[in-house]
Amino acid sequence: MGQLEQRTDAWRRLLAVLPDEVIVVDAQGVIHHVGASLDALTGYRDGELIGRSIETLIPPEVRQAHHGSRTQYASDPRARTMGTNAHYRLLRKDHAEVLVSVALSPFSVDDRAWVVAAVRAAASTQSLGHRADMAERLTSAALLAESEERFRLAFEANTSPMIFVDLEDCITAANDAFCRLIGRDRSEIVGFDSSSFTHPDDQEISGAVRERFLLGDEAPATYVKRYVHRDGHVVIVEVSKSPARDAAGRVRYFVVSERDVTEERLLVARLTQQALHDPLTGLANRTLFEDRLNQAKARLSRLGGLSAVLLLDLDDFKGVNDTFGHFIGDQLLAGIARRFELVTRSTDTLSHLGADEFLYLAEDLASFDEAATVARRLLDVLAEPFVFDGMRIDQRATVGIALCDRDSVDTADLLQEADVARYEAKRTRRGSYVVFHPAMRQSAVHRFSLVQELHVALANKQLSMHYQPIVELASGRVVAFESLMRWRHPERGAISPEVFIPLAERSSLIVDLGAFALRTALNEARRWPASRGVAPYVSVNISAEGFHDDGLVGVIEDSLSESGVAPERLVIEITESAALRDVTETLVTTKRLQELGVRVALDDFGTGYSSLSQLTLLRPDILKIDRSFVSPPHASEDHDALLEAVVTLGAKMGMTVLAEGIETAEQWTNLHALGCTLGQGFHFSPAVARDQVGGLIAHAYLR
Ligand code: C2E
Ligand code: MG
Ligand code: MG
Repeated sequence: MGQLEQRTDAWRRLLAVLPDEVIVVDAQGVIHHVGASLDALTGYRDGELIGRSIETLIPPEVRQAHHGSRTQYASDPRARTMGTNAHYRLLRKDHAEVLVSVALSPFSVDDRAWVVAAVRAAASTQSLGHRADMAERLTSAALLAESEERFRLAFEANTSPMIFVDLEDCITAANDAFCRLIGRDRSEIVGFDSSSFTHPDDQEISGAVRERFLLGDEAPATYVKRYVHRDGHVVIVEVSKSPARDAAGRVRYFVVSERDVTEERLLVARLTQQALHDPLTGLANRTLFEDRLNQAKARLSRLGGLSAVLLLDLDDFKGVNDTFGHFIGDQLLAGIARRFELVTRSTDTLSHLGADEFLYLAEDLASFDEAATVARRLLDVLAEPFVFDGMRIDQRATVGIALCDRDSVDTADLLQEADVARYEAKRTRRGSYVVFHPAMRQSAVHRFSLVQELHVALANKQLSMHYQPIVELASGRVVAFESLMRWRHPERGAISPEVFIPLAERSSLIVDLGAFALRTALNEARRWPASRGVAPYVSVNISAEGFHDDGLVGVIEDSLSESGVAPERLVIEITESAALRDVTETLVTTKRLQELGVRVALDDFGTGYSSLSQLTLLRPDILKIDRSFVSPPHASEDHDALLEAVVTLGAKMGMTVLAEGIETAEQWTNLHALGCTLGQGFHFSPAVARDQVGGLIAHAYLR
């Protein structure tokens, strides 16, 4: 067995259900596993085949062709040029050839593609003939006339389980293979009704088949049924049943030949489960979901009715992963799946698309309002925080809903509509739901054209940098400026960075915007005069994509040397959530910047998930407390205590604490008292154009 034994759990579980007669090869055709029973068939033993190409077992003159169809199969198993149960010549170790029947199943474990080939000696090489032939022969009058002895031998020695049953379904004879199949002695079988060993759910089957024969049907019946083994486990068999008739054509008894397909079926079930379910949550995956959706759509076109597709997107799930690690992240996803399942109706389908997305198909809705009810039910189960190892995690989600009736668009468009609605919800109604409306498609198109226009804007100088003064809270003096990008669109007027920065972040444009901001801000800051011997510093925002771009440090070095501004006068702002996107990488970049003499500020602190330990690791020079802490929509004691804790924490860790969004004199006084050194906000000044900066440099605000 070799290599496979060292593999993961997934492998071990798989091996446990693989029947003995299989070979497992990877996408390159390298053999990784050979079932024990194949040693005799191939002539190779003890893992001699492991690591060799499957072509070792193919006669030389057909190797080339086999290689071709194998490669094709690997790239698209559904095309199935290799077929199921196709017959092949197998080259044994001793160069003899045997005819085998091969059934292929593609599957994936550990993210790699594999193929399981079930290999059996083909019927003609089996000693006692194929069961179908056998049954036919048994039914012929000639065979009935054969000597008792020869017949008994054929029956007894047959490796396929076989029984004879009379017209009342009572077993009149059973061979050894059948006794082994259900784990009983012959004395416990012969004379008993076959239903005594049959699975309760399959009781009807043999009666139905008998009816058919009694009505004169000649062809042997083949079907699948289940027995219950003496030890309680279920045995699945493929049955071939033929009537034995007398000279007058009357059915006298039945010859039943069976094949144990339990392992095969379980394997298929597992592989199907694996192919159609997400291993982490056990929920349906996208393939299965789309299949159900197509069925639902077909039913709607036939019968009418209403359905809805809900796309659930977890808010800031990335932050959970980065903060608590993937292990907790995975547990959280599984926990969420369990809660969603609790409110999933039996007619509906819940699926996990991977990462932070779930899809829910709601069928048979009484009205479209019911889709909103379903959304609320799903959101409500997240209200209670999740607790892992004593850590509380609040996880919310945002839902986009697409409605569907008889005349709706096709299913691919439905999913896209749910996606557009999700996007709209993320923008305007986080933590809640939005139902798709065709006008939203307009806004999706609008977003796209905005990105195109942003390219033009960058080239045509529609972008500029404005500067918001940063004030020393003790003295009210302006000590620095944060540069904030402005876009003046020739037709649409001013467009907020809160609109265009996120759009640019989804394209490579963000890196260019970052470089533009750096060059412009540094070139302008070069001309700012010193006040009391110190020239104000300039803060430049860099978004996550820009910060994690390899070229960033180079661009900073270039802009610094181009402008001649001392590195000490530059602060790079990165938002908390961007810093957490890849903590290790953030650390490396931060360190390189600090070595250059450039300082790093952690922006919008308090809106992400950074834990204390990460803050200690990152050690930004400046901690910018998000304005939601500084001017909360609803004041409360809780809130004051939180603000105090955050300020004290930053100061204790040796960081300069800056409060964003100071809007009143009272907030100024309060923050100063708490130990905040710097502040910015509309109370002092909004961002101003570059020609107004000079007037603010020597300025001191009065409390
Ligand atoms: P930010 O970096 O946190 O910038 C502070 C934002 O708060 C600015 O909004 C500013 O005008 C606003 N603000 C300042 N004082 C107050 C106040 O007292 N009350 C209120 N309500 N708001 C105040 P702005 O200029 O619209 O920028 C929004 C965000 O867009 C920025 O948040 C930043 O994340 C991003 N951004 C702006 N310029 C750039 C840039 O050049 N590059 C990058 N990557 N992002 C930028
Ligand atoms: Mg900022
Ligand atoms: Mg901020």
